[in-house]
Amino acid sequence: MRILFVEDNLRLATLVRKGMEKEGFTVDAFGTIAEAEEAIDMTSYDAVILDLGLPDGDGIDLLKFMREKKKAYPVLILTARDGIDDRVKGLNAGADDYLLKPFAMEELTARVRALLRRPDGGITVNLVAGNIIFDTSSREVSIEGAVIKISPREMSVLEQLMRRAGRVVAKDTLESKLYGFGDEVSANSVEANISRLRKRLAQTKASVSIHTLRGVGYLLSKQAEEQ
Ligand code: CA
Repeated sequence: MRILFVEDNLRLATLVRKGMEKEGFTVDAFGTIAEAEEAIDMTSYDAVILDLGLPDGDGIDLLKFMREKKKAYPVLILTARDGIDDRVKGLNAGADDYLLKPFAMEELTARVRALLRRPDGGITVNLVAGNIIFDTSSREVSIEGAVIKISPREMSVLEQLMRRAGRVVAKDTLESKLYGFGDEVSANSVEANISRLRKRLAQTKASVSIHTLRGVGYLLSKQAEEQ
């Protein structure tokens, strides 16, 4: 899940980015409305966490920009302002939730997950492919009831493949979900994660496997369909 985080407090931005990445999210953090608008034009997000007091304007303006661009991402406003007026203004402008600073990291991730689970976000809690179940809420992958341990990045790859099980997922899509803008992207990162995932699936009793379509992307499908 790729999250846009707009926050001009660099320390807080880094803290939240790291905390959420540990939970398996990919986070692009920007400190100004201008940068965030550019990112929104270029990339697609699953949710937005938005500070209101930004150096080049009010976070509400970014909310309006997104609505004008028909970007229906769920938005959580994160701010130190606790006036009822501000809260109402944010919700009226189309925000979905509101969290006051200071906050606990756990509460923030729980709220973001709740936003992602909303029916209009088009996201289900459990992804199922063959005998693999991916619980997007607890970030647990299990095969026939046994939880398997994989890294957050492998999890992100598996999640994308499971969301489109039986269909081809472009390598670029996997790459964009894997890395925030700030991260270094090595040419074979997707391949490396796919290869580790394949090994994990082969070690377990997974009834699905990952197929490579050279130059196109990857596909998760039942092993019986391989022949
Ligand atoms: Ca601020």
